[in-house]
Amino acid sequence: MKYRSTRGSPKSLSFSEAVLVGLAEDGGLFIPHYIPNLPIDWRTTWRNIPYTTLAHKIFSLYIPSSEIPSKDLENIINRSYSSFKTPNLYLLELFHGPTFAFKDVALQFLGKLFEYFLEKQNAKKSNAEELNKITVLGATSGDTGGAAIYGAEMTTVPDDNVHNLVVEGTFDDCQDIVKTLFNDTLFNQKFHLGAVNSINWARILAQIVYYFHSYFQLLDSLNLTPDSHNISGVKLQYIVPTGNFGDVLSGYYAKQMGLPIDSLVIATNSNDILDQFYKNGRYENSGVVETLSPAMDITVSSNFERWLWYLAYEETEHDEEIDKRVNRAGKGLLIGDVLQKIVRRDFNSARVTDQETLDTINRYYSCKSKDQLSPYVLDPHTAVGVTAAERQHVTSEIYQICLATAHPAKFSDAVEKALENIPSFRFDAITPPEFKGLLEKKKRISHVDRADPELVREIIERELKS
Ligand SMILES: *Cc1c(COP(=O)(O)O)cnc(C)c1O
Repeated sequence: MKYRSTRGSPKSLSFSEAVLVGLAEDGGLFIPHYIPNLPIDWRTTWRNIPYTTLAHKIFSLYIPSSEIPSKDLENIINRSYSSFKTPNLYLLELFHGPTFAFKDVALQFLGKLFEYFLEKQNAKKSNAEELNKITVLGATSGDTGGAAIYGAEMTTVPDDNVHNLVVEGTFDDCQDIVKTLFNDTLFNQKFHLGAVNSINWARILAQIVYYFHSYFQLLDSLNLTPDSHNISGVKLQYIVPTGNFGDVLSGYYAKQMGLPIDSLVIATNSNDILDQFYKNGRYENSGVVETLSPAMDITVSSNFERWLWYLAYEETEHDEEIDKRVNRAGKGLLIGDVLQKIVRRDFNSARVTDQETLDTINRYYSCKSKDQLSPYVLDPHTAVGVTAAERQHVTSEIYQICLATAHPAKFSDAVEKALENIPSFRFDAITPPEFKGLLEKKKRISHVDRADPELVREIIERELKS
């Protein structure tokens, strides 16, 4: 398996190159040369196996064993997921990792991959040679309005090799800066930039696993065995709170591989560029607004480019054409009927306002939603997903699984606001011990007054020198 760019550079890269480099030279994103099919017996042999074993089977379809031998891959996966507690059903809780958000699932693995590839490169060097290192550069929505804990989690990390830059601007600005610096060949060669945002293929790959895992969990809960005759009638709809389109794109790969997914629902907040695209075929940035679900306050979704590549591929079956179209897409785009049909075959979308988000959090805590057995505290991102799920018209053989992307304690402002009329609710009761005292800890941040790549470049050079 090799990797190529969405913008048509003829260069083929190995998995390790794609992961270490992050962004292609031509500014595109890496995608695999083909989407592998599932083995014939996946329904039986992939069932009832631990999450880590399932991850090994899926990753092996995308990572040649010549790059990571099977035993090594097993070891990396085990070390990536040892810090997770077991998640739930139907609401797929993906926030049981070290930072209490779904991104841990992919980032734990990515961190181990960086380490593995660097160690391998460095093992070949003599004592006199300088060791290879990378500078990981990531954009995050961080410390916006309702996310004090979210921000404190990263800005109070004591390690000397972690630097937090607070940029005056939006997440889109930060993501732009990251891409500009990646595309600056000299700077990139000097500091060996590594990408941790979902422009990195390994993030998308790691997230494919939980779509399969939740499918098997669902079959178990329905008591369906692989030879139950109605098993093939079971179809899934995943509802995904979406920002950069990474999480939902992983679901798209799972569907293309052959997992019986009926549809993927793109759930957005008021930053609804993807919802607009779905509804009228127009992808046009009209500026970002701050919402109660800050991790989704994004108007330029990186992974949209990967998706677009597949859409254009299906429409034209002609590589050169696609590359040109994908390349132009950054500036806004309008698609025709044929593509819109292809979009609707796999996806649905919904836009959810802050008020609806608050109402949903309140309803689910007060047990006012149908079929609910006990109170549940939704985080605002997951609440966007749940609201979108309720709006779908699905038949009885379709099971809805909403991805729960963050622990509610991370977004205390939204949760407290939603539940302020419920005197019995105490925020303390849902706060994990890891968060206690976080806001009093010393923050380590550098301010960047303008969203200007030059300023960020200077700070990186200075920090790395010292
Ligand atoms: C990042 C994030 C999302 C959006 O995921 P994408 O892959 O960027 O679409 C949703 N919810 C939370 C809590 C997040 O951190």
